[in-house]
Amino acid sequence: MTLLDEILSFNQDFVEKKGYEPYMTSKFPDKHLVIFTCMDTRIIELLHKAMNIKNGDAKIVKNAGAILTSPFDSTMRSLLVAIYQLQADEVYVIGHHDCGMTGLKGETVLGHMKERGVEEQTIEALTHAGLDLEEWLTGFDRVEDSVSRSVGIIKNHPLMDQKVPVHGLVIDPETGKLDLVINGYEN
Ligand SMILES: [Zn+2]
Repeated sequence: MTLLDEILSFNQDFVEKKGYEPYMTSKFPDKHLVIFTCMDTRIIELLHKAMNIKNGDAKIVKNAGAILTSPFDSTMRSLLVAIYQLQADEVYVIGHHDCGMTGLKGETVLGHMKERGVEEQTIEALTHAGLDLEEWLTGFDRVEDSVSRSVGIIKNHPLMDQKVPVHGLVIDPETGKLDLVINGYEN
């Protein structure tokens, strides 16, 4: 049985047995917050439990490292939609210790791409087209700096509602302990 078959078979059972009932809620976040965090496997449930966030409480945006790549990337768009369309009144940027993006070098990722069959000329063509692939694929040195940088981009965004607090935190992926990096109420 493939993973897809396994998931579809479980899903059929889940729906038939009305496993969804405890999770029924609306698209508006009851706690009026939007969280931007990392896609790390260790914090799928841990982050929510450690923050007392339940289904229906928050809008959640995730990517590798909780990194805003540009003020007009899809993450920033998601945050703006959460604020202006979906009643999120606070933003929480939450990085985590031991993140896969810590110390990640773009050239390492490009090396793995080549090993798996991406042609050197494809990379060259994209580079000639003006894409800095190495920079695009590079992570960060310190998670606190990355969180601060993302908070700064959000806070200073020209389309941002200046009354919305933007907090920066770092979570321990084992214990769930949150360390405050930026208190958005004070900035
Ligand atoms: Zn991470």
